[in-house]
Amino acid sequence: MGIDRRKFLTIAGLTAASVIGRKALGDSLSVAPESNLLPEENRLIGHRWAMVVDLRKCKEQHNCTKCIDACNAVHNIPQFDNPKDEVKWIWKEHFKEAFPNQEKEYILEGLLETPITVMCNHCDNPPCVRVCPTQATWKREDGIVMMDMHRCIGCRYCVAACPYGSRSFNWRDPRPFIKEINKDYPTRTRGVVEKCNFCAERLARGQMPACVEACEEKALIFGDLEDPDSEVRALLRENFAIRRKPNLGTNPEVYYIV
Ligand code: SF4
Ligand code: SF4
Repeated sequence: MGIDRRKFLTIAGLTAASVIGRKALGDSLSVAPESNLLPEENRLIGHRWAMVVDLRKCKEQHNCTKCIDACNAVHNIPQFDNPKDEVKWIWKEHFKEAFPNQEKEYILEGLLETPITVMCNHCDNPPCVRVCPTQATWKREDGIVMMDMHRCIGCRYCVAACPYGSRSFNWRDPRPFIKEINKDYPTRTRGVVEKCNFCAERLARGQMPACVEACEEKALIFGDLEDPDSEVRALLRENFAIRRKPNLGTNPEVYYIV
């Protein structure tokens, strides 16, 4: 018997977020019942989840935003006019910003102009987790760095600690700026931090991350690093991949095939 504390918090966090979403929204919006967010029998289980981004494919689809659009839609991510208010879970950056210390000669030919798809790296050694005074963010056993919006007190230590800019703070009430609310996922409030969660709620339902599913070119590949037969392991075995700011010791688990 026994569910460890982290597993409990994962479930409790998702549930609490759902409850908060309902409370704050009042009767005007019905949020899906908690049962939709709880792990199910067919859930996807990994020992160390990781994402591989094949930049060669992204390069061919230069202006593609399908992964971003899918994540925004599924997670009720607001679209603000003012970039200062921006909330982003997955977005594109210039190569030089994404890989500031990367050798650019020869191996990266033609990639410098390619917009790089970036998200939370679900670092193995996440500084954001270390600085959180309320344990609103934590690393699960399967490596996913989670956020419990209910526990977040808005101190933004984690925002400052993340060297990748992967965390967003809700400076304004995000709800009026959500294009179309997905009732299967809770909305958030002003004053909390949020970020990519590797689609933990979808894995719990046996689904792949929304960005991966949306990418018809299969430039995004998600899987278990500890499974030698997984697609991510095969890709990393057969291709040259880089990670963002590896010198910082955060050990990112998003890999970029170049
Ligand atoms: S990328 Fe940033 S937010 Fe994500 S785990 Fe690493 S330090 Fe934390
Ligand atoms: S893994 Fe899920 S939460 Fe993370 S960027 Fe992709 S769609 Fe968004």
